[in-house]
Amino acid sequence: MAELTLDSVTKVFNEGGSDEIVAVDDVTMGIEDGEFLVLVGPSGCGKSTTLRMIAGLETVTDGEIRLGGRAINDTGPADRDIAMVFQSYALYPHMTVRENMSFGLEESTDMPDDEIRATVEETAAMMGIEELLDRKPSELSGGQQQRVALGRAIVRDPAAFLMDEPLSNLDAKLRATMRTELQRIQDELGVTTVYVTHDQTEAMTMGDRIAVLDDGVLQQVGTPLECYHTPANRFVAGFIGEPSMNFFPTTREGDALSNERFTYPLPEDVRETLGDATNVTLGVRPEDVEFAAEAETLGPHDFECVVDVVEPVGESNNVYLRFADAPDGETFIATISGMRTVSSGDRVVATIPPEAIHLFDDRTGEALK
Ligand code: ATP
Repeated sequence: MAELTLDSVTKVFNEGGSDEIVAVDDVTMGIEDGEFLVLVGPSGCGKSTTLRMIAGLETVTDGEIRLGGRAINDTGPADRDIAMVFQSYALYPHMTVRENMSFGLEESTDMPDDEIRATVEETAAMMGIEELLDRKPSELSGGQQQRVALGRAIVRDPAAFLMDEPLSNLDAKLRATMRTELQRIQDELGVTTVYVTHDQTEAMTMGDRIAVLDDGVLQQVGTPLECYHTPANRFVAGFIGEPSMNFFPTTREGDALSNERFTYPLPEDVRETLGDATNVTLGVRPEDVEFAAEAETLGPHDFECVVDVVEPVGESNNVYLRFADAPDGETFIATISGMRTVSSGDRVVATIPPEAIHLFDDRTGEALK
């Protein structure tokens, strides 16, 4: 079993100095044997540092990392039975593909040469790079180099894979192909994998579960759909989902949440959680904003809007709207079917249904509903 556990793991750079940085702050999470966990978050949130601590390339300031139940804090990177794949591929330029893939096995195992050869060829076939075995990295495209880097990790048959934005140097089309291929290979091999990305589409499509980090602090660990439908807080709600969730400030007035334009009922359990707090952010996903091309009679959650910009994204359109009574106000987004035609300047009615709203406590950012 190669489950990977982070137990209250903290990393402080320049500890005690005036430039001290808490890059990873008391992170606890478990990655199950064979699981594909995606670590996601904005630039500088501590993803790479977390991965580098697991790999042994960075020391742990506090806490414990365990692989298969065994603490590995003090184990050198070469002895951790973990293979890491970098964004930059990090292939040895003077070696052929075959040599790049064989090197680790020759160095760290006593596998006989003919077995190494067979293992390398088998892995090369799995990665579709058999024809490239005698080439040098400089004679390969970026996509081919990345396959070799992955092949080099796979051939070692490690207890865990760590991948740091491995697809970010590839063009969009190749990235999409490699995403599915990587998932297929990981599934086939069943190797515990931690995959770092700042791309939430990658996180949503690849992970069994995703772990969302912000400013070194773990915000939520859950399946992509859990993080999407029941975000733990406003940060996760805004980070997961493309386009982002729309947020509107409201104030509690008795049993309702209101602002100059809205009144939404406040669910009873939320009233209790809120206590005497008054400020609540109301969130709605762009695809939950309903849309009528013409105004008939307006219900309490229907709003007259003006179309600012229409952004076609294949089967759907992201429609940037402004409330008609606030022509200079901020826009919000509705995602509607691409079959529907609306244009900049059109007046439309947008409905924000009460059952679709998310609520966040402004004091903590925590989700209330
Ligand atoms: P990105 O997506 O941009 O790669 P990240 O989420 O991987 O970002 P890290 O590289 O882990 O973020 O960095 C986390 C924080 O730690 C940042 O504030 C960064 O500046 C800081 N940091 C990282 N490495 C060092 C270092 N060696 N010395 C000092 N500070 C560091």
